[in-house]
Amino acid sequence: MKLITWTQNRIFFYVIPQVIIVIIINWILISFKNKDEVKTSDDLNVLLVTLDTTRADRVGCYGYKKAKTPNLDFLAANGVMFSDAYCQVPLTLPSHCSLLTGTYPLYNQVHNNGFYYLDNSHLTLAEVLREEGFKTAAFVSSFTVDSRFGIDQGFDSYDDTFDADEILKNFRSEKRAEKVFTSFSHWLDRNFDEKFFCWVHFFDPHVPYDPPSPFREEFPEIPYDGEIAYMDHYIGRIVDKLKTKNIFDKTFIILAGDHGEAFGEKNEIDHGYFIYDVTLRIPLILYFPKRLPSNKVVESRARLIDIAPTVLEMLTIPVVKEIQGVSLLPYIEGRKKESLSSYIETYFPQENYGCSGLIGLVAGDWKYIQAPKPELYNLKLDPQEEKNVFYLRKKVASAMKKELERMIHEFSAKKEAGRKKLTSQEREKLRSLGYVDSGLPEGRKESILPDPKDKIAEYRLFFQGNVYETQGDFKRAQQYYEELLHLNPRIPHNYVRLAYVFQKMKKIKEAVQLLEQGRKRMPDSKIILAGLGFAYLNGGMKEEAIETCQQALRIDPKFFDVLFLAGTIMWMEKKWAEALDYFERAIEIEPENKILQQRYAFCLRAVEKR
Ligand SMILES: [Zn+2]
Repeated sequence: MKLITWTQNRIFFYVIPQVIIVIIINWILISFKNKDEVKTSDDLNVLLVTLDTTRADRVGCYGYKKAKTPNLDFLAANGVMFSDAYCQVPLTLPSHCSLLTGTYPLYNQVHNNGFYYLDNSHLTLAEVLREEGFKTAAFVSSFTVDSRFGIDQGFDSYDDTFDADEILKNFRSEKRAEKVFTSFSHWLDRNFDEKFFCWVHFFDPHVPYDPPSPFREEFPEIPYDGEIAYMDHYIGRIVDKLKTKNIFDKTFIILAGDHGEAFGEKNEIDHGYFIYDVTLRIPLILYFPKRLPSNKVVESRARLIDIAPTVLEMLTIPVVKEIQGVSLLPYIEGRKKESLSSYIETYFPQENYGCSGLIGLVAGDWKYIQAPKPELYNLKLDPQEEKNVFYLRKKVASAMKKELERMIHEFSAKKEAGRKKLTSQEREKLRSLGYVDSGLPEGRKESILPDPKDKIAEYRLFFQGNVYETQGDFKRAQQYYEELLHLNPRIPHNYVRLAYVFQKMKKIKEAVQLLEQGRKRMPDSKIILAGLGFAYLNGGMKEEAIETCQQALRIDPKFFDVLFLAGTIMWMEKKWAEALDYFERAIEIEPENKILQQRYAFCLRAVEKR
């Protein structure tokens, strides 16, 4: 009896408490250890959704009260949200090139929209994943990321048709979220049982802000928010679609903005002209239940160039050596906490408005912008970038400038070949950005081009003219564009815009005269030559048109619009073999163009009949 009591006492007072303590300790250890642990795997799908022109501070989960973004908010609440994410260039094509290659524009050499191509020598995330056995597909919604700019590398299918009836794509060519979703949805129906990497690009929040009903009526005052709400609705449709196919839990979803949007801050509207935070800070959300933590906010700064290495690490694929970003998984797990520095730039003010381009650096609490009138901001104390302390904090400014120079040298270089030698063209470009010592006397070394801050009025003139042009008010657009040309006759775009408006008003003679003036001033401008070719044809001057096309093609043999125009002139002249030659070259660049296919087939039959 005594023995039983002794045993009971021992169990009751010693064994049970000890077991309970061990269980509690283990539970604490396990729950502590697993809280933010990331579980990588090579067997999952990757879905990248890019949100064009979406400012982080206009999304609900980033604190914007008026937002209607329940789907983005849901994914953030159940996934990982980066509260301080930056793009490297506030322009669509360069930003997506940085994202897909994991490299700075210094390295991938895509600095602006329109006339830059991502060279084949660069490796994209799609190429790496296709090599690893992933089915790859992209559904894009704007001409800025058309396949002709080389960004389709690695995608088995690349849907960049915008309007099937459109003869020539242009910067107004775009597709609403509904159509992008439909293409994605049809593709998924056929491919959901294979391992895939898919990129869906929504362009809706970009100008013009015109959300469809009922979002238009819901946001009558702020249609931009309506566009974001409309896009969010289709993010929800994507989630539903993945659920229907039973692959929602097998798909790693990345949602990222490509740049923000300015609404008059520092007098900027739209994006691309300056490199202030309103156009650089983007939403970045990663979602993958059971593999990524839930409801986690990472406050350390992240960058678009970090997405590709993060995806590769998630898939346990070795990170490609040319990648300049870093995996964000250690930041999600809390093993690393420091904010990543980012090189930033825009060539847009120089290439489109003839003033100095801008380069800069965001590091720690500071932002430095190298310009003819340099700027330095403490982002922590002054997040609106209102107080330029460049001349007050000289030591910080000097350290930031040095670090920027170091980064330029490090990231312009090919890793395998040591420092890359700059071509004379690249050198000229950097010189005009104020980076390379230009040999000018002290004090004038920075740049001889005007500071974009001093030319913002010209930018706003263009923007207002463009608004009138979009509304079909060509008379008023003409006034604005004429003033712009008068202020800056050295910019090819200024001739082309005005000539386009003239042609819309049936003033063909004026258009031709204007473009001929432009050609006289800038004989090597391919956009003036292309514009002149079209104007000649509109005026019935086919011979002059074809000669101008040939001049343009000598400068850029892959200029699609000009190949198409030259082929069409030959086709009209019934010179089938010549037409066929131009069309063949054009079809290589844009095989999806229906009118081109028809004309090509027509010429082919005509040549065979002979
Ligand atoms: Zn964009």
